[in-house]
Amino acid sequence: MLDIATYTGGIAETNGYLCHLNDAQILIDAPDGIVDWLRARGASVDALLLTHAHFDHVLDAAAVQEGWKCPTYAFTDPTPELTLEAMLASAGPSLQVRPYSVDHHVVEGEPLTLAGTAFDVLHIPGHSPDSVTFAPEGTGVLFGGDVLFQMGIGRDDLPGGDGALLRRGIREKLYELDDDLQIYPGHGAPTTIGAEKRSNPFVRA
Ligand SMILES: [Zn+2]
Repeated sequence: MLDIATYTGGIAETNGYLCHLNDAQILIDAPDGIVDWLRARGASVDALLLTHAHFDHVLDAAAVQEGWKCPTYAFTDPTPELTLEAMLASAGPSLQVRPYSVDHHVVEGEPLTLAGTAFDVLHIPGHSPDSVTFAPEGTGVLFGGDVLFQMGIGRDDLPGGDGALLRRGIREKLYELDDDLQIYPGHGAPTTIGAEKRSNPFVRA
């Protein structure tokens, strides 16, 4: 049984999701301000999953780790290029992401088991080189990060971005999944694979 609470915050209105799954609390992404929100709910965090390292998804990652000593799962370790700190530093007053650790690197095709549930991992670069999606098996839900949005796709103009690669990944990986699968994206409202296959203006099925 999966129960999802959504937090939206930070300058990019980024979504973080707290999933209650089989008595465990799994957090997907750590946008700015999510720790205060978690504390206000009296929530705990048993594991942190990061869809990618862009700053707006990881600004509170260090504070989550300090608060709950939970293991963190991501495609790779953060770098100033992946967090976009390098890009922002060259543009003027810089933004700093407090350093956090990645305890487990996730790999596409190697299911990750959390709370007794296998999470299917897909690596879909193009928005960011380290973009992954997480789908807890049997729940009908996929946490998609900034890959596919309701009637949109992730931007491809940031460092390491590649629009053709992103669209190919969406078509060959996400659009192969069940039409009824619900996508919980990094920004905006949830959608389904079927709705995007039918109407997404950026990637045709
Ligand atoms: Zn992003």
